[in-house]
This record gives sequence, structure tokens and C-alpha cells, in this order.
Amino acid sequence: MEKPALLISRCLLGEPVRFDGAGKPLPTDILAKLTERYCLVPVCPEQLGGLPTPRPPAELQGGDGAAALVGHARVIANTGEDQTIPFVIGAHQAARTAGLHHARTALLKADSPSCGHRSIYDGRFRGLRIAGQGVTATTLAEAGLMLYDEHQLGELLAAPAN
Ligand code: SF4
Repeated sequence: MEKPALLISRCLLGEPVRFDGAGKPLPTDILAKLTERYCLVPVCPEQLGGLPTPRPPAELQGGDGAAALVGHARVIANTGEDQTIPFVIGAHQAARTAGLHHARTALLKADSPSCGHRSIYDGRFRGLRIAGQGVTATTLAEAGLMLYDEHQLGELLAAPAN
């Protein structure tokens, strides 16, 4: 039987796509378990939105990803550049990719203004997290995907793969 698709943040595979040009690889035994159960579909929404790597760090200001999607919050780089549009484009590209692969589950990097699904940074570039979802996490949740982050691997691996 064909394995179900799991949308996964590219940086969790160790790919050097983060703002600082690095990755955040999951442990190899976890990756092996995931690939036993799922067909991994990697996406980096910020790259899909056209942003370069490396790029300045960015945070949501004035609200969370849901607010940004309706124009009530912005994604601002620490240089002051407004990056809301590429973040929104990348979110829609990630959701489109999920749809093309019939993915119903996503494993996303925690705390990112794109991929964070339980918390994000507070917009002041001081390392403080607040509850909220990033732009892509919101878009995927609205599309009906179940979302996990790298701190919920036990839950993901215990859940039925679908
Ligand atoms: Fe790309 Fe998401 Fe990883 Fe950021 S957290 S580097 S947007 S995959």
C-alpha cells in the first residue's frame, strides 16, 4: 500500500534553508521512523515565497499568521523590510503542494513566523515567544491538515499514519 504523504519543513531534514543558511536536522533515527511510515514532502515556504537564503530574520508584528493573512499583521525583517507578501505567497505554495500530494499531516519547525504552529516570536527580536501560529501553519490548518512540530514527535509517531 502506498504510504501517506507527510509535509515537512525542509530545515528539519537538515537542508540549509533557514534565514541563517543552516538547517535544523531531526535525529537520524526519527527520520528513519518517519520515512518508514510516510512519503516525506519537503517544503520551505519562505524560499517558495521567493526569499533568498541567507536572509534577515523576520517576525510577525501586530498579530499572528491568521491576522497577517487578512492584512491585520505584518511580517517584518530585522532590517525593517516588510516581507508579508513573500510569506503569504510561500504559505499558499506550501498548501498547494500539500494538496497535490494529498497530505493530511504536516511536521513543521516550531516558533517560525512561517512554520510555527503553537508559538511564534513576539515581534520585537528579543527571543520571547508568544502563543500563535505562523503564516504557513495557519494556512495549512485552514486547509484541514493536522499539524505537529519537532517537540511533538512522540505524538506524531503514535498517531495513525494518514
Ligand atoms: Fe523554511 Fe519553515 Fe524551516 Fe523557516 S522554518 S527555514 S520557512 S522550512
